[in-house]
Amino acid sequence: AQVAEAEFVKSSVRTEDCPSDGLPEFALVGRSNVGKSSLLNSLVRRRKLALTSKKPGKTQCINHFRINDSWYLVDLPGYGYAVAPQELRTDWGKFTKGYFLNRSTLVSVFLLIDASIPAKKIDLEYASWLGENQIPMTLVFTKCDKRKKKKNGGKRPEENVSDFQELIRGFFQTAPPWIMTSSVTNQGRDEILLHMAQLRNY
Ligand code: GDP
Repeated sequence: AQVAEAEFVKSSVRTEDCPSDGLPEFALVGRSNVGKSSLLNSLVRRRKLALTSKKPGKTQCINHFRINDSWYLVDLPGYGYAVAPQELRTDWGKFTKGYFLNRSTLVSVFLLIDASIPAKKIDLEYASWLGENQIPMTLVFTKCDKRKKKKNGGKRPEENVSDFQELIRGFFQTAPPWIMTSSVTNQGRDEILLHMAQLRNY
């Protein structure tokens, strides 16, 4: 389940403008700075594929990358910019939630959560919204290589991961699958690709 070919296809402002060839897709989403671009680049083994979503003007777009001519990785804008005005945050919610609810070729959302810090309210809200709306979801924990010093009160990634799962449990009928990753060590990369291959073959 490796990536032989990755090609940027388009940036869409609305769900209706997304590619209409019916290929299955997986959407990556998470708080800004969670490590989404790094992970995307690690998955396709390139340095700069994911930069599109960071260009000014493209931050509010749905970015489609076609993989091996047979499925899509979709880069969604990051949420939780501390500086974003309320208006923009509301728009962001409408825009991505509309995509999740209406995109029929979406196989699963991959929600990225930073495992090097304790759970953030906005991530919990996001995960619970996906759970309540029964959007198929996989939890991808990022930065699992980062180890906080115990004496500073920091928790290990494993502890943050199990805390997070515990906090969202009530919103899911069955606990979502989860994968621990690091773009530094490439931990989890093959597991993500294999998981995506399995989901496509259902
Ligand atoms: P994005 O805003 O979600 O696209 O996040 P980026 O991929 O740009 O990463 C944000 C910051 O986190 C950068 O400084 C990265 O170097 C760092 N980062 C991303 N992934 C990892 C990881 O797996 N481990 C560590 N230690 N740092 C990471």
